[in-house]
Amino acid sequence: MSINLKQSVKCPKCSQMSDITVWSSITVKDSPDLKSDLLSGKINMFKCPSCENMALMPHPMLYHDEEKRLMISFSPTNDPVLKEQMFQNVKESSSKSGELEKLEGYNLRFITEYNELLEKVLIFDNELNDKVIEVIKLMILSQDVEKSEQRNCRFGKICDDGLEFMIHDFIENQVYTSTVPKSSYDTVYKSLLESGMKPYSFDWEVVDSTYATRLLNGFNNNF
Ligand SMILES: [Zn+2]
Repeated sequence: MSINLKQSVKCPKCSQMSDITVWSSITVKDSPDLKSDLLSGKINMFKCPSCENMALMPHPMLYHDEEKRLMISFSPTNDPVLKEQMFQNVKESSSKSGELEKLEGYNLRFITEYNELLEKVLIFDNELNDKVIEVIKLMILSQDVEKSEQRNCRFGKICDDGLEFMIHDFIENQVYTSTVPKSSYDTVYKSLLESGMKPYSFDWEVVDSTYATRLLNGFNNNF
């Protein structure tokens, strides 16, 4: 079920008051329109009608796609300590409430960045697995090791030549694209499956570059 609440917000820039609808839960089946709003970056994004200042509302949101067996828990924060705390809270409450048992075969993701949320939705919409994508992103960034710290890589789209990734270089202030053939994706996917990775979750997971590094070091979620 999709759930929202209306809130009056004071613009942090010009102090103008305005009303915003904050979504705490989005279920794709019930609300396809909300999903397209999310993908265009409109959900839980405050835009001041007076000065056009934009800011992400600091509210957690649950994204649920029953058809794709995907659930994403989004808790916006930049604080790594708070992130770990909230992640543990999500795991604990999901396990205690019995919700976890009902989500067998699901991919369960915990996320703190808005862009990452959009990227995950895109990845699963394209019938891809984000664990494989994270490993490929590491491979792309490792092609220029010296610059990998100043770069961020995100899945963009599927094109005729394969999977297109966007590489943002913060120092050079440039965006590059890199295309990986679908056959390379399939090869990485196959080898991860062979090493024991399961393409679904047994608990909530943070699937990011750290996770991908662990996968490459032989870790798997087959427990
Ligand atoms: Zn304003």
